[in-house]
Amino acid sequence: STLTVSELASKLHKDASEIIKHLLFLGVMATKNQDLDDDAIELICSEFNVEVEKEIILEDTDFDKYVQEDDEKDLIERPAIVTIMGHVDHGKTTLLDAIRESKVTAGEAGGITQHIGAYQIKVDNKKITFLDTPGHEAFTSMRSRGAQVTDIAILVVAADDGVMPQTVEALNHAKAAEVPIIVAVNKMDKETANPDRVMQELTEYELIPEDWGGETIFVNLSALQHEGIDDLLEMILLVAEVEELKANPKASAFGTVIEAELDRGKGSVATLLVQNGTLQVGDAIVVGSTYGRVRAMVNDLGRRIKSAGPSTPVEITGLNEVPQAGDQFLVFKDEKKARQIGEARQQKSIQENRSEQTKVSLDDLFEQIKQGEMKEINIIIKADVQGSAEALSSSLQKIDVEGVKINIIHAGVGAINESDIILASASNGIVIGFNVRPDVNAKKAAESENVDVRLHRVIYKAIEEIEAAMKGLLDPEF
Ligand code: GDP
Repeated sequence: STLTVSELASKLHKDASEIIKHLLFLGVMATKNQDLDDDAIELICSEFNVEVEKEIILEDTDFDKYVQEDDEKDLIERPAIVTIMGHVDHGKTTLLDAIRESKVTAGEAGGITQHIGAYQIKVDNKKITFLDTPGHEAFTSMRSRGAQVTDIAILVVAADDGVMPQTVEALNHAKAAEVPIIVAVNKMDKETANPDRVMQELTEYELIPEDWGGETIFVNLSALQHEGIDDLLEMILLVAEVEELKANPKASAFGTVIEAELDRGKGSVATLLVQNGTLQVGDAIVVGSTYGRVRAMVNDLGRRIKSAGPSTPVEITGLNEVPQAGDQFLVFKDEKKARQIGEARQQKSIQENRSEQTKVSLDDLFEQIKQGEMKEINIIIKADVQGSAEALSSSLQKIDVEGVKINIIHAGVGAINESDIILASASNGIVIGFNVRPDVNAKKAAESENVDVRLHRVIYKAIEEIEAAMKGLLDPEF
């Protein structure tokens, strides 16, 4: 939690200027609107002999804390979620279109397909969900955000072109995610098509066809001429069966954002892929660091629906902000709870963004000085003996670079500890260690708070480094 200086002042029934004075006394220059973190607040409160009673803030913003374990008996089969990957121009988009055209319109007369980032088809009374963003960028960016939505990857390889760099990239991504791969050998209608070569080349990557004693399914097809599509779909169903994909339709809906945007008329519009549970219109929902109530739900045929079960993609409206692709969502029974957690997550994400933006490292110091954003450099010194701390402190203050001032906000003896880091973090400063090192907690804090810690054994080197930073001459190898 954070409070600004004036917010804290009003809570303490003091004048903001009094708080500022105390902060100054502690070596921190602050303005009325500056944020104070927990430690700074505690420090000030202790100055005024006030016990800090922390509000019970929702620290548990993790969805894991709220997802209930499913009862085995509630689990039912769910549709596979499939991503199409492969080298550029090998036919991913054409294949996605061919699959959609072949099935969607046949079963659902009158539906107008809508691009919402994913679609669902029905084969032999079983559904399959396709993510409609070809390529592995989406796949990877979602994985890097902790979301794993794909059950099966289709690796498209053009029979006339063979294995290309992005083919290898794609298969490596699928392998890293431990997602089963089906190889679709495309463009079989071309005279120059050579499916054997594709198989041969892929053996190098341990994708060995069943005919050759391996376990990988290969399907020859022509996306352009709609040939072999049914075979591919059959194989997807086969792999899905082996994978035993299950979900609990009774659970509170949980899943991932496929795409999201701001619509002028509708506000925040997000395509969600339900991975567990059933999403209903009216549900209180937290999506990434946004929240709201599901106002309306539209499926991939542009139809309004009231509920969406596992593996179903739906476009929803009703969120307070636009979430990001790869964000996870969770439904809460209680609207108040959803709001609380949504707000806490929003707060957290604002803070995370802010701390990333404002923390100073020596390397970007010059940039800030140049842009006139930085007129002072706040420094915390820790040294092995008092004499060194004082010597370093006075030498640093003597550095004369026009327009920039050195502020030693703390100089002490001993290892760099957590509170040094917190002080640096709160004052946007850096820490210099002279013949001392950070302890374990300080290391962790420095990492999480993004505080720059510089270690030196020779005074003039420490001085040179700071002077160089002030002049913008910092050697990048430091
Ligand atoms: P993507 O970059 O992987 O999405 O590839 P596209 O689907 O955009 O296809 C690239 C080009 O290959 C387009 O000109 C398609 O018409 C063509 N193409 C795709 N599939 C086939 C096919 O089965 N046979 C032939 N002859 N051309 C195809």
